Amino acid sequence: MIGTGCMDSYAVVTATFFDGEQYHSDGPYTAVVEQGTIAGIERGDVSVALGRRDIRVTKKAFIMPGLVEAHSHLFLDGGQLDFTIRNEYLNAPGEEMLAVARDNIAANLAAGVTLVVDAGDRYGINHLSRLESGRVTVRSAGMALRRPGRYGGFMAREVTSGDEISRAIREISTSADDLKVILTGIIDFKAGVVKGEPQFDREELRSIVLQARALGLRTFVHCSGVAGLEVAVAAGVDSIEHGFFMTRDILKSMADRGISWVPTFSPVHFQWQRPELAGWDAKTVANLRRILDSHLEHVAIAADLGVPLVAGSDAGSHGVRHGEALIAELDFFSRTGLPMDAVLRSATSLPRKRWGAEAAMLEVGQRADFISLEGSPFKDARYLHNVEAVFGSTH
Ligand SMILES: [Zn+2]
Repeated sequence: MIGTGCMDSYAVVTATFFDGEQYHSDGPYTAVVEQGTIAGIERGDVSVALGRRDIRVTKKAFIMPGLVEAHSHLFLDGGQLDFTIRNEYLNAPGEEMLAVARDNIAANLAAGVTLVVDAGDRYGINHLSRLESGRVTVRSAGMALRRPGRYGGFMAREVTSGDEISRAIREISTSADDLKVILTGIIDFKAGVVKGEPQFDREELRSIVLQARALGLRTFVHCSGVAGLEVAVAAGVDSIEHGFFMTRDILKSMADRGISWVPTFSPVHFQWQRPELAGWDAKTVANLRRILDSHLEHVAIAADLGVPLVAGSDAGSHGVRHGEALIAELDFFSRTGLPMDAVLRSATSLPRKRWGAEAAMLEVGQRADFISLEGSPFKDARYLHNVEAVFGSTH
């Protein structure tokens, strides 16, 4: 049953759609939006009847919920490839950083992303971006936690004693949506390993997770390498970010404990694709390829074992451009053999559920937050690269 027309109403007739969980391929269907809510989705093209009621109708080939980018750094321009400029930028005035974040939010929207999770910056641009984000919702972790002098200077505050950690979590909880913890360093591509011990041991991290949970925050941890992954799993974090050097045993434990994985292929893939920029030698390029191949293999294993796989690109990293990088992550998922409905869930309903974000299913009663593509990605995944339009309370 489709309601009466009014100024805030519009309809989309679509050949096929993905509702956030399932593909509907037996169209046409007509979706009607009234005052920002999906008032009806019915089989058939009822545009003639709607036209008589002055409801504007658009015809599309495929619609689906707006995408979720689960790991990004909005204040960083991933397209800036010059290392000197990237370093100097860390001393730029806040206004300049905010302008970069605005551009990055626009790039996300152009790629069909309507929810961005910011994974940390120490300048607070992620928090400010929540106010400036327009049609894109931004979740902000504010500042992450790290050990003094260890990896994560651009996105984390330093904590030492247990008291300091507790105070930091309490302070972060007053303004952040989620808690980010830097558990390990980054990959040493030349050596092909993650160097150094994890920044927190399992008791410390367990305590962080429990304190955060008591304050209503989920925890997501920057973590690569077996030593760190074992700590993250034992501590029962909500999500493991990056997770390079994954193993089947760790994936099994993640599945058992319902820990999600955001594998962020893009930053490592870019180093492999453009080795001359950082001056990587042939041996390092071979390491990068090996790391990526193992990552692809483990994402396939994760899917088999039932680990919740979530798409996030680490946009803002060297060579990782906001918006398009999230689509690249979906391509990596496809390449591992993940079926398209699972690929799309990883960037729609699943992360929204995992993070307790407002739902955005293409279902009656839900908030209108969807995008159209020129064709169905179930027929050709390349359609994901061209978002035609973003639909919200108006269109
Ligand atoms: Zn990151």
